[in-house]
Amino acid sequence: MGCATSSQQKASSPECSASLPERVHSTVSKLSRTVSRKLSRKLSCHSSRSLGKQEKPDEPLVADAAPEPEASQVKFVSGPPLTLLEARFDPKSSRCTLCGNTGLDIEGRFCKCPYGRRNPPARLSEGDVEVDVGPLSIGSDGQALLPRMKLGIRGPYIYEVGGRRSAAIAKASHTYMACAAMGPTWSHILEQVHFKTSCPSAKVLLEAMPEILAAVQRSTSVNIPEECAKARKTTRGEDHLNTNGIVYVFSSSVSAEQFLGSLDIAGYSSTVCKGDGLQELGLEMRVSISHDRRIVRVSVYQASSGTGFDGIIKLRIQIPEHVESEDKGI
Ligand SMILES: [Zn+2]
Repeated sequence: MGCATSSQQKASSPECSASLPERVHSTVSKLSRTVSRKLSRKLSCHSSRSLGKQEKPDEPLVADAAPEPEASQVKFVSGPPLTLLEARFDPKSSRCTLCGNTGLDIEGRFCKCPYGRRNPPARLSEGDVEVDVGPLSIGSDGQALLPRMKLGIRGPYIYEVGGRRSAAIAKASHTYMACAAMGPTWSHILEQVHFKTSCPSAKVLLEAMPEILAAVQRSTSVNIPEECAKARKTTRGEDHLNTNGIVYVFSSSVSAEQFLGSLDIAGYSSTVCKGDGLQELGLEMRVSISHDRRIVRVSVYQASSGTGFDGIIKLRIQIPEHVESEDKGI
């Protein structure tokens, strides 16, 4: 992804001349074939339009992942797989026996766990908001060029790149802000961000949360408030489900396609959500399920306010397999 996420390279190197979403799409399309094929076998009743007929093994497979213009089309995109250590990583309870979460093993080599990666897990704690602020450069077409974000989602955790800035740079006229937090619900995260960083646009997404959760349910059949309530009940209120999320705010025009295309979807299969409620609020949304089917992720963007949210919630259940086909974009 190095090339796909660097705006400088995008401008200078010829092999990166395709637009970011196009390149991301083409990469993930290739990777999604296997999943698409598996799904198309499972979706017996109404899959013919979206995922196509069953391919012969030697038939070229590019066509089935290409988007079609119909509004009710269900689009699946599957990210590349995570390593086992990444996929099993639990930010809440991880204690790596090889490196003790330092990222370096006893011989001083980088550990294979997420802490040994270039983008290790961010050290979040409940009630805290981690912030990164930076300049946004504007291309010759007036469109902002997205920088490599220093806070983002990687599989089941939020990663952090060194060199974050938490205060605005005075001379930058175009800026971005990323605010990461954790808590029992996505609304909780948005409230925290709104409260601690006086970010007014987090409120916009907070108000849209009922619509976002309804879209998740249409798309995955997972009722998140109900899962949260069940988790509280079974632990007699002592524990809750864990969510992680990042609010992104851009001062200049960043399109929904640009924002959603820049997110790391390794370890997830995504569906584009449609719906009148989302449209009225000007929200573009994608819902994703982790490859192990235990995490639901929402990625939402409102172009008018330049506000995005990328959040994950770890469920106690494994999401049943046949359900992604249900969002027909009512
Ligand atoms: Zn380790």
